[in-house]
Amino acid sequence: MTSEPAYAVRGYSVAVPVRFRGLTARQGLLWRGPAGWAEWSPFLDYSGAELVPWLRAADEAAEVGWPAPVRTHVPVNCTVPAVGPEQAHAIVTASGCRTAKVKVADPGQTLADDLARCEAVRDALGPDGRLRVDANGAWDLDAAERAVRALDRFDLEYVEQPCAAVEDLAALRVRLAHAGRPVPVAADESIRRAEDPYRVVALDAADVAVLKVAPLGGVRAALEVAERIGLPVVVSSALETSVGLAAGVALAAALPELPYACGLATLGLLADDVATEPLRAVDGMLPVRPVAVDEERLARHRMSDADEGRWRERLAVTRSLDAGRGARG
Ligand SMILES: [Mg+2]
Repeated sequence: MTSEPAYAVRGYSVAVPVRFRGLTARQGLLWRGPAGWAEWSPFLDYSGAELVPWLRAADEAAEVGWPAPVRTHVPVNCTVPAVGPEQAHAIVTASGCRTAKVKVADPGQTLADDLARCEAVRDALGPDGRLRVDANGAWDLDAAERAVRALDRFDLEYVEQPCAAVEDLAALRVRLAHAGRPVPVAADESIRRAEDPYRVVALDAADVAVLKVAPLGGVRAALEVAERIGLPVVVSSALETSVGLAAGVALAAALPELPYACGLATLGLLADDVATEPLRAVDGMLPVRPVAVDEERLARHRMSDADEGRWRERLAVTRSLDAGRGARG
């Protein structure tokens, strides 16, 4: 295939060197429309109607573009996977970021592992840096209270999705307040995969909302959620290439207030990128600018034909689901 039409859909596959979210490779589809490049890369554990918002986000990027930014740069955090303390220290130091997000409660690890990792991260950040942890809903309420109280010796900025259930997030906030350790709670999965993302507000279950563009259906849709939810927002990536990350940057750039560093410095978790100028953080900041695909780099990271066939089928099914749902935003 040497001469493809300009809007051809193409698949990429980029290695994930340090297993993250169970992934060893990140895959997705890329295409270009009149407004710019789009990435459609829903994780494989998403299916059916859950894929429609990811498609609407990609269509917005390709066909409409994004609202005007109110800032030129977006502060970002580095992400520390469930690695040992030495590697954790090195990741933070190399990142140049003043905020670090540390994965905790990883299956097969203990609170002692989390404490050692957070100690190393606090050491790398120094006392002025901000340290947040993300448990991806892995703790039950008692374990969460125990862990957060222990980890807060390293001065937590917030704890992200400590428990899976919204009720438990609410109960944890009460318990931490009673214990005199009111570590703020951020809701991530409780918003992005919930039937009702506003339940966290109704139940007083979070202090911070983590929003991702793709699962919420685009930058405009995410801005609407941010306004309705009424909590400070942290924009986070879905581990995309620079093409998908640019949508997250566009959301962060358009939010009226941005009190926290965003989780958009995730390109380093991929072995490579597909963009001419990758969206890599410099001194903890990402620039707000368009991203274009580098054809040579994409050629190096093309998906296998078999994988691309499956992804195109997934896209076709999702498109028909979206059409079946009537009016598009
Ligand atoms: Mg999270």
